[in-house]
Amino acid sequence: MAAKRRTAASPDPRTDCSREGLRKAVLDNLFYATGHAQENAARGDWYTAVAYTVRDRMLKAWVQGIERIAADGDVRCVAYLSAEFLIGPQLGANMLALGITEPMREALASLGQDLDAIVFHEPEPGLGNGGLGRLAACFMDSLATLGVPAIGYGIRYEFGMFRQAIEDGAQVELADKWLRRPFPWELPRGGQQYEVRLGGKTHMETAPDGTLRVQWTPAKTVTACAHDIPVVGHGGTHCNLLRLWRAEAVEAFDFSTFNAGEYFSSVHDKIFSETITKVLYPNDDPYQGKQLRLGQQYLFVSASLQDMLHIHHSLGKPLETFHTTFAIQLNDTHPAVAVAELMRLLVDVHGMDWDTAWSVTTQTFAYTNHTLLPEALEKWPLPLFAEVLPRHLEIVYEINRRFLESVTAAHPEDPDLARRLSLIDETSPRFVRMAHLATVGSKAVNGVAALHSELLKRDVLGDLAAFFPEKFTNVTNGVTPRRWLALCNPALAACISNRIGTRWQDHFEEEIIRLEEFADDPDFQAQWQAAKLTNKQRLTHLAKTILRVELDPAALFDVQVKRIHEYKRQHLNVLRVIALYNRLRRNPGMDFVPRAVIFGGKAAPAYYLAKQIILLVNRVAEVVNTDPAVAGRLRVAFVPNFNVRSGQVIYPAADLSQQISLAGKEASGTGNMKFGINGAVTIGTLDGANVEMRACVGEENFFLFGLTTDEVQAVQRAGYSPAAHLEGNPELAEALDQIRSGVFSRGDAGCFRPLVDNLLHRDEYLVLADFASYMDCQDRAARTYADPAAWTRMSILNVARLGMFSSDRSIREYCRNIWNVPVE
Ligand SMILES: *Cc1c(COP(=O)(O)O)cnc(C)c1O
Repeated sequence: MAAKRRTAASPDPRTDCSREGLRKAVLDNLFYATGHAQENAARGDWYTAVAYTVRDRMLKAWVQGIERIAADGDVRCVAYLSAEFLIGPQLGANMLALGITEPMREALASLGQDLDAIVFHEPEPGLGNGGLGRLAACFMDSLATLGVPAIGYGIRYEFGMFRQAIEDGAQVELADKWLRRPFPWELPRGGQQYEVRLGGKTHMETAPDGTLRVQWTPAKTVTACAHDIPVVGHGGTHCNLLRLWRAEAVEAFDFSTFNAGEYFSSVHDKIFSETITKVLYPNDDPYQGKQLRLGQQYLFVSASLQDMLHIHHSLGKPLETFHTTFAIQLNDTHPAVAVAELMRLLVDVHGMDWDTAWSVTTQTFAYTNHTLLPEALEKWPLPLFAEVLPRHLEIVYEINRRFLESVTAAHPEDPDLARRLSLIDETSPRFVRMAHLATVGSKAVNGVAALHSELLKRDVLGDLAAFFPEKFTNVTNGVTPRRWLALCNPALAACISNRIGTRWQDHFEEEIIRLEEFADDPDFQAQWQAAKLTNKQRLTHLAKTILRVELDPAALFDVQVKRIHEYKRQHLNVLRVIALYNRLRRNPGMDFVPRAVIFGGKAAPAYYLAKQIILLVNRVAEVVNTDPAVAGRLRVAFVPNFNVRSGQVIYPAADLSQQISLAGKEASGTGNMKFGINGAVTIGTLDGANVEMRACVGEENFFLFGLTTDEVQAVQRAGYSPAAHLEGNPELAEALDQIRSGVFSRGDAGCFRPLVDNLLHRDEYLVLADFASYMDCQDRAARTYADPAAWTRMSILNVARLGMFSSDRSIREYCRNIWNVPVE
């Protein structure tokens, strides 16, 4: 009552969400948080002031969220373990969740400030490589929106994903100093610190009760410090947290060595410890067997499990019930060492017997696989694993011994099975197979799209799936419609809400389908087209300011943005651009739908062919964009530094979404979904979630081309000969010839030799085999685009029918089928 009366009389300056209240709070924060008077404040200061103002309004829900997890042992809490969380800029998303975007916009306008400019000023925490990290962020958003108690556990990299610059056409990597200014969305939690050990040796010791216990004497101990970021659900009532760990030296200075004059070595020690969370490894797919990376993985896993045990203990529940307090999801195998670490904590530290500990462990974990590329399955060389985690290797051996015993007992007829299922790859050198560890230690294993889950069972993890058929399941990925429609595409969001209200924002699947009935409505179509045009103008502006490339918003915006990888086949797209260019030059009078072909994406710094592809795109752009013969009809742009922030401008502006990976290689894709819910029509192969997207939107609303997974396997079994595809296809032969002879490298004939040679003699991803089918399909897409009503209908139906690709649906499935957590 007292609080209520006070609200009525004078609103709390830190929670008041009225226009006037926000205005006062921003001014207050501007002065007290940045130390600037209004007249001297720069854009960054305004950003800080607005961010603190919004943060204040989240804190109540934030604290309640933490209390709920720490005080309510009856509700199982989800712990989402992921080495990456690509959360993107926070300010806009948080204002949207709280519903204060418009009052804040007005408040700032009254101060002479533009909200959009301030929002765009926020540096992006690039704590992930691409799809996997972004998925984790969408899942956190959905968990909060659905009111499911959850903690995301990860790593607070000091340097996130590198910033990509393009210099003379080539990728250059620059360090990402996202913490140059304090990040207003995190709270360092001094109270949540855990010691994490590394290296050293183990020996047996007799405990006071006479039992034998293993003692681990580490070579090194570091402290993991929690930094919490709030994740507020849509509507602002429920808040979860993202808890990211930073490594610190146990003692900032070792005074004993310092006193002995060993100043350098004591400082060195501190530097080593802090190195662990210094930088994100920028490899998207193939793992990199680096010692520091294993240290990163272990640090965040150990700290997270210690934190969960601490919370469980504070609830007063017995250790044997740990799995009733937490459901832990392993996002790929990066945190898979958690299986061994939980066993160690339960058995070595808390004295639990092995069988009970194993039962708790296997009821706690579930594992999501993210890849179909065998070379991307994580495996650690045994000597390296032993050096960093000597005790865990012993535990892995013991898990394996018991597991293989059960394998041999169950299948005496197949003596080779144990070798194939073993947690240890016995080829020389020997490795720990992390996917096997994760599978054996989990109660559920899922792929991320229907096709992917089938192929996992059939090929990649076939033997494990045959042994544990009940564990394997599918949860198709999704994306959050808040960030990836409501926030990033205000024009289309308004157009949608005008017809069906705003409930789609948190009931996407149920509501968005209602757009179907307006697909042919001329008024609605006109509004739809106007929204798309607005978004294309926004991207045109971006391309002009950062690239000095002039796009035509009336052209078909044909977009491929994602990590650069051979399996994703950006080079297939480039070959198509070259063929189109040649057609136009040969036949200037031809009927041609004007196109802007837009690329974006980062290559792993050591991935040579991916970098060649980026150079090729830029060199082709240079030739095409300066050739008056094709002016106004064909434009090529490579948008540098593709990330969440630029994605929020790019996805909404696309007419045509390029999802052209070789069938059987992309686990799911989520870019395909972001494009789709923003009204792009997909041209794609039957790969990943494309398959389900096509089934939802209808085959007449999807441009399909290319070999199927089975056809790919048949071609490869029969012995694939790329050069054979040049015979009947002079356009393809010409394009490759031009690349080879220097037409797109300023006359330098050697420049693209590695790329061309690879395509002609190896072409692992069947680019040449799919080229003809791709060209035909592109022609069909262009013809359809020439009919605006037909195209707009397709675009509307794509959005209306993609409701199931909301991450809210994915999270509901995880809750029901895997975590056993109640959800609305
Ligand atoms: C969605 C997203 C991805 C994943 O894109 P795919 O097309 O699924 O590979 C990668 N990077 C960023 C920044 C994204 O937002």
